[in-house]
Amino acid sequence: HASAIKDANIVLFGAKGVGKTALTVRYITKRFIGDYDPDMEAIYSHICLVDGKQFNLQIMDTGWQTETSDIKEDQLQWADAFLIVFSLTDRFSFDIAQGFLTYVCSNREDVRTPVIFLGNKCDLIHRRTISEKEASHVADSHSCQYLETSASENYAGVVHAFAELCRQIKVVNKKK
Ligand code: GDP
Repeated sequence: HASAIKDANIVLFGAKGVGKTALTVRYITKRFIGDYDPDMEAIYSHICLVDGKQFNLQIMDTGWQTETSDIKEDQLQWADAFLIVFSLTDRFSFDIAQGFLTYVCSNREDVRTPVIFLGNKCDLIHRRTISEKEASHVADSHSCQYLETSASENYAGVVHAFAELCRQIKVVNKKK
């Protein structure tokens, strides 16, 4: 019934080339398509079922940001939940993502706003420069969940990341 449906807006932040579009498109279409316009900003609608509850998601794939001043106030206001993405092969993107994490966590009015710190491209094992330990330590320090994904190789992992965010949204919603 209608009251069981939860509308939620998700925003992806991250440096250029970390896989924000790849993750979003993979999640929604199940497909991995090689290259995308990096500047493209788009909002995708997606209905999913998590633990028997329906979520009507609006997913905003932002263009890209290199510093927190690139984050727009209306993006922060619009979002119910955040995926802060970096590439496990790119330390620069990790440094940027840490800045975003700090920024998002300090700006949100409600400390329980769902945020997942997401290391993408875990399939590129030989090019990995960020360890799971290092990244999860950063997430822990902000009381955030840390997950690793591969948009290219592991569809289930991508679905899991969005489902975990929905679970967090559900918890927050219950407390309101
Ligand atoms: P965005 O700028 O953050 O939106 O990044 P894109 O989604 O455009 O991805 C940048 C590049 O990384 C593209 O060439 C993608 O094909 C590639 N890419 C994205 N995710 C993965 C992944 O999980 N593994 C690998 N090997 N490549 C990926």
